[in-house]
Amino acid sequence: MNILVVNAGSSSLKYQLLDMDTGELLAKGLCERGGYENAVQKHRVAKHDKVIARQMRDHRDAIGYVLNTLINDPDAPISDLSEIHAVGHRIVSGGEFFSRSCLVDDDVIEKIAICSELAPLHNPGALQVIDACRLFMPHTPQVTVFDTAYFQSIPPKAFLYGLPLRYYEKYKIRKYGAHGTSHRYVAARAAQMLGKPLEELKLITCHLGNGSSVTAVDKGVAVDTSMGMTPLDGLIMGTRCGSVDPAVITYIMRKESLTPDEMENIMNRESGLYGISGLSNDLREIRREAEMGNERANLAYEMFGYAVKKYIGQYFATMAGCDAIILTAGIGENCTRMPRMIFDGLEPMGIIYDPEKNCQRGMERVVSSDESRIKILVIPTNEEWMIAQDTKEIVEAL
Ligand code: ADP
Repeated sequence: MNILVVNAGSSSLKYQLLDMDTGELLAKGLCERGGYENAVQKHRVAKHDKVIARQMRDHRDAIGYVLNTLINDPDAPISDLSEIHAVGHRIVSGGEFFSRSCLVDDDVIEKIAICSELAPLHNPGALQVIDACRLFMPHTPQVTVFDTAYFQSIPPKAFLYGLPLRYYEKYKIRKYGAHGTSHRYVAARAAQMLGKPLEELKLITCHLGNGSSVTAVDKGVAVDTSMGMTPLDGLIMGTRCGSVDPAVITYIMRKESLTPDEMENIMNRESGLYGISGLSNDLREIRREAEMGNERANLAYEMFGYAVKKYIGQYFATMAGCDAIILTAGIGENCTRMPRMIFDGLEPMGIIYDPEKNCQRGMERVVSSDESRIKILVIPTNEEWMIAQDTKEIVEAL
């Protein structure tokens, strides 16, 4: 079964065509700068990389080019759209409507549109893609996989804010979480690595990339996560501030006469590692500068590690223990130094990091010492695979 996985970002569209019978990646690519001049499609098939200049106004144009390339490129892996047996779409917000992946129908589309308020940069683009796929492939089943679905198991005591309950009742203001597909994937892989059923494990999964979040997974279900109603909450991130005393926001707005949009822009794009270091949102650059004695870079680096450590402590307490901590995404998978910062001093809790075990990139590995009661695992995330897997299961059950 060939499955096309589509991930419509705020200004990009990523895709993978997977043969689920063999596990082979038939093609993958990325359309960037949609809506701007000089947009490009980067397409990889059979290890050949191509960069094709495109005029793309929106995601509808982008998916049109993608489908066209998949069948008409000289190295095209398929010759007709009927060879795409299902499409899996990543959807950023499913609000409270969806606690699992589902087959697309008119009702699903309507609910995703309602959730656009919670993900204004993502859901409308994904809907354009779904619409175009339905047009080009009217008989091909489509499945939506929601970033938020994994967190619908979080209980009210953890998903509500200490604001008047009427705001939840009126506007559904609550924690929804983010990166759910990644947390779900690494939790499942961790159980495999540990050789135990997921239902018997307490895990803390740390998705540490440009956007970062930590999730507590108790007996196979998410019970808390660091992201909130929007992906601005929790850890300090590349350019996002993470948790801040809410009164600070209104204080700054008054002092600097900022509008809500201006303040949101500062919190989303001018803060985080970038805002503290004054240099970059990229942890590699921050680490380089920190090693050369740049104090602000060092501070940003320390703040990141400290924030992750605090969430590990929180979830260790709320779950009354933990069997394993999992690191994933750009920083979690590749940065061998950050774990030193995160796990430093946690030996009394039974958490001992062993940097010597963290040398081989790109593969699943145990990076805690043999004496560590709590295992530390590095697991490369694979959201596309998880989306394809959900799509396959749903389509096969039809
Ligand atoms: P996104 O949220 O954009 O998908 P990624 O998961 O790709 O982000 O992670 C990007 C982050 O990973 C950047 O901060 C980058 O510096 C960091 N990163 C990637 N490789 C390394 C590395 N070898 N050492 C330290 N940080 C790394």
